[in-house]
Amino acid sequence: MGKRAFDQIFDEVSIFMSKKKPYDPSDPPFVLGIQGTEDEFVTFDRSVHEVRRERRKGACGDLPKTRCLVFEWRNVDMSDQEELSERFDEIFFEVYEWLPRQGPGSRESTARALAICGELPEEPVIYDMGCGSGAQTLDLAALSGGTITAIDSHAPLIVKLEQEVKARGLQERVRPIVGDMAEPPAAPGSVDLIWSEGAAYFLGVEAALSLWRPLLRPRGYLAFTEAVWLRTDPPKAVLEMWHKEYPSITDVGANLAIARRCGYEIQGHFTLPESDWWDQFYAPMEERIAALRQIYAGDDRALWVLDEIHGEVELHRQFGDYYGYEFIILRAVA
Ligand code: SAM
Repeated sequence: MGKRAFDQIFDEVSIFMSKKKPYDPSDPPFVLGIQGTEDEFVTFDRSVHEVRRERRKGACGDLPKTRCLVFEWRNVDMSDQEELSERFDEIFFEVYEWLPRQGPGSRESTARALAICGELPEEPVIYDMGCGSGAQTLDLAALSGGTITAIDSHAPLIVKLEQEVKARGLQERVRPIVGDMAEPPAAPGSVDLIWSEGAAYFLGVEAALSLWRPLLRPRGYLAFTEAVWLRTDPPKAVLEMWHKEYPSITDVGANLAIARRCGYEIQGHFTLPESDWWDQFYAPMEERIAALRQIYAGDDRALWVLDEIHGEVELHRQFGDYYGYEFIILRAVA
């Protein structure tokens, strides 16, 4: 496909998207082939029905210049936002509930962070906030002699964890509960270690660290992971994604400053390795998305949601060195 074809397609899409040809839900889906040049491609912002032509170096990854990138336009009626949002949640959970973990992480990173909490008692009282299906809860149970209360607001994930706790005979030590991590059932000054992988941001780091601080015993620990900028020059696509998903993302230094303000000293911190994004998170997510694409073949709305979710994986594949997850291990100041 030559330059002219690219121009034609761009024009056609622009016309289709413009007021000249208003959106009609009965329009058939259509497929676009776009020249995979190194620095020019077309993006579709499906949420606002906008088409843009962009110049972005490396946009086509390792594809040979001559190969066409094919985008399938999903003919999704965006007029009923409420219904769309419900469908998004439904498909989102069909992906996420199936995954071994709901965010980047690994047993090795959990173990490394736990080792940084140098002076825990033999049988620490641990709270795992926003535990998801509990991959790290089970690792903590194996790596420590502690008792763990694991809290998540999404009941199906807690059901999954309960089943695993039973299967491993851990009922005496692991207590999964459906609840709000902003109001955990812990008495003030009763917890040795608060754990939270990929969940503190739901409350906001400052709010979470302040809320949880009084629950800790004197010199208790708090370990959490948080999405952070690793570089100061993220490309537009990355900025846009984070602006939409988590506008208050900041860098490691700013997070450490928040922690100090909230009454903690910094015990240690490290960036999760790239394998923590893929082995138990994005690789199974891609598998799950592929399977659901088969199940939902012909259902454009569901396929659109799967595209949206997959966009995050693709973005990480291309631009993952601009942002990461930091494990931050804190200790309550006496
Ligand atoms: N810690 C798990 C992991 O790393 O696999 C899950 C991480 S996932 C990114 C964040 C989790 O926080 C989700 O399971 C979500 O349901 C939970 N969550 C969000 N807000 C919450 C709240 N207010 N109370 C309890 N759980 C919450």
